Amino acid sequence: MAVYFDHNATTPLAPEALDAMSRALGEDFGNPSSVHQYGQRAKGLLDDARSAVASLIGAEAAEIVFTGSGTEADNLAVRGAAEALEPAGRRHLVTAGFEHEAVLNTVKALGKRGWRVTFLPVDSTGIIDPMALESVMADDTALVSVMHANNEIGTVQPIQSLARIAHARGALFHTDAVQSAGKIPVDVRALEVDLLSLSAHKINGPKGAGALWIKRGVRLVPTMTGGKHERNRRAGTENVAGIAGFGAAATVSRRKLASDSTRLGQLRDRLERGVLSRVQGTQVNGATTSRVPNTTNISFEGVEAEALLIALDLEGFAVSTGSACSSGTLEPSHVLRAMGLSQHRAQNSIRFSLGLGNDERQVDALLEKLPALVEKLRALVRR
Ligand code: PLP
Repeated sequence: MAVYFDHNATTPLAPEALDAMSRALGEDFGNPSSVHQYGQRAKGLLDDARSAVASLIGAEAAEIVFTGSGTEADNLAVRGAAEALEPAGRRHLVTAGFEHEAVLNTVKALGKRGWRVTFLPVDSTGIIDPMALESVMADDTALVSVMHANNEIGTVQPIQSLARIAHARGALFHTDAVQSAGKIPVDVRALEVDLLSLSAHKINGPKGAGALWIKRGVRLVPTMTGGKHERNRRAGTENVAGIAGFGAAATVSRRKLASDSTRLGQLRDRLERGVLSRVQGTQVNGATTSRVPNTTNISFEGVEAEALLIALDLEGFAVSTGSACSSGTLEPSHVLRAMGLSQHRAQNSIRFSLGLGNDERQVDALLEKLPALVEKLRALVRR
């Protein structure tokens, strides 16, 4: 049995996305900046995808800038806002210790170049307290960047409250919605943010396509310079096939959001309840009250998570110990550490993230195997 429980790392391509991509790679191969009909057909694909991605987040198509990844969208948001606001004397950036590396390392890089940087504390629930933001805001704060849903534990942040606090001091607000889009409703107007990042491969689209939503009127300094692509906001000939696949995935995702999130929520709860009741010494990491429906992160006392991951892989179950970007490093998860979990507990934690194709049979098969695998690993340590 091969079961994929690692949808926060990446997702399988939706058939609709594959269809859209093969058309774009075949007959519609033109350069979307060309004036002739080949170019215009490719531009038509970009326009359709732009509208589809905008609809997923309640935005206008013209506000979407396609990028090469979620990471690039985060870079454009953070670097672009920091540079645009620097001449006005705003050289303070705020983010949280449990952000994805795409934001965290970008903010740290700017910190080395002279920007003042504040990392908001995260409590053991994995949720940011708006009061903590209130207390660090300053007149020179340029940007606050807090992710919508965390990739490792799935907790959802009070983005609207945080954005209001940032705006009250004249700062911009960015949210990385790479892990919330397609799982819970994401509406840029309701969230009241200025910038929002997306990645195609987390919503059953292809790898190598992302988007930054830039609220009308917000000015960024482009990180990629060159031609006038994407209305001068991101130079480089667009990845038409990847973007067409992104658009198709966004359309499917929007259509199935309500039914998928109910189904996946029930499945995740079955898995979580099953693990907690069948395996002693297990605990869920992070709040369970405000969480995307597909994710659970569970610590297994006395078990090295890497060893359990490998044991599960040998049985056909793909899970993860944290974000795909930092797996294999044996470093304890920076997310769990930021929440104040001990190094031991952070190294004992496994993320299960569900998605398209998962069903009860697969969850039950996992629950059948897991207790004995955990017991075996614990026995090895006791020896
Ligand atoms: N932001 C979050 C929250 C993510 O989970 C990821 C991917 O793991 C990214 C950004 C980066 O997206 P991409 O893989 O498209 O660069």
